[in-house]
Amino acid sequence: MEGEKQYLKNMTRGELAGFFSEMGEKPFRAAQLFRWMYASGAASFDEMTNLPAELRRRLSETAELFTLTPRETLISRIDGSRKHLFETGDGNLVESALLRYDYGNAICVSSQAGCRMGCAFCASGLSGLRRNLRSGEMADQLLLARRELGADVGRVVVMGVGEPLDNFDELKRFIETAGDAEGPGIGRRHITVSTCGLVPGIERMAEELPQVGLAISLHAPNDRLRDALLPVNKRYNTESLLKAARAHLARTGRRVTFEYALMAGVNDGAACAKELARRLSGMNCHVNLIPLNRVEETGFGGSGGAETERFRAALAACGVRVTVRRGLGADIRAACGQLRARAGY
Ligand code: SAH
Repeated sequence: MEGEKQYLKNMTRGELAGFFSEMGEKPFRAAQLFRWMYASGAASFDEMTNLPAELRRRLSETAELFTLTPRETLISRIDGSRKHLFETGDGNLVESALLRYDYGNAICVSSQAGCRMGCAFCASGLSGLRRNLRSGEMADQLLLARRELGADVGRVVVMGVGEPLDNFDELKRFIETAGDAEGPGIGRRHITVSTCGLVPGIERMAEELPQVGLAISLHAPNDRLRDALLPVNKRYNTESLLKAARAHLARTGRRVTFEYALMAGVNDGAACAKELARRLSGMNCHVNLIPLNRVEETGFGGSGGAETERFRAALAACGVRVTVRRGLGADIRAACGQLRARAGY
């Protein structure tokens, strides 16, 4: 691969040290670079004033500091949330959303360019999967958003475009870097990964990333409905998914979050609420209701305020912990399910 530049952010701290030793550099130089990239969020090698000028020159010839180029930022007039559009070195588009809450900032990171899960109501899978994102491409979504905001980001949710558990190895490397105290320092307890229901991935999470929060996009209480909405259910049915959720809880002690997008006349009736409550009974979990956000192509509509409240109240009456999620960034199409790997807004 002579002549091709190395993407430094795709390397873990250990790999970076190896790369430096091949260049004949001391390990502490790699540690310095790591801090510049992730803790300081340096925009160029020139800023790295404690690295010798000669090393900086060699790095700029052989390596890329960024895996992504910012293309566009949209800022919500409603709530100040932002949507970032980036381009990868090979021309794929990547979106992230920076969400502003009273208690701090969170970044919603994409894990793939496109998605192959094919959920019937979601924009992200409309054109299929382009490719998995590398760990550095996930890290740069965080670093570039943080830099542009000029403020810290305390939480990461892997809920953007893509199915993170379909890209487990790179996800894990990203989480390792994000949590590094010498880097962004976002500990695993402040990271949540959301899945549409890849059971083997959930099992791996419990074993390999037990401190990371798990969110499951459930959206329906039974196989009949779930089969129709989320094709993944034909591989891992509702029962096996809920079993994996319970096993995750038992192994990690962390409360599982279930996301449930309310679709008018599809999954928002009293019978669904009752069945959902029954299937979740006795589990330490939390249900997040999200009135479906509009995606032109899908034909599904979000439930109204009255239906949403009725569904919430029905679950609460059965003892289920439940909240209605505030949809941030709706005016810039940064809300759940509206991100898509395509430009032209
Ligand atoms: N693939 C993972 C990560 C994406 S998270 C997963 O499915 O969990 C994005 C969340 O938004 C998921 O819960 C997804 O089901 C939900 N979603 C998709 N389309 C939506 C829409 N139009 N309105 C509201 N939520 C939607």
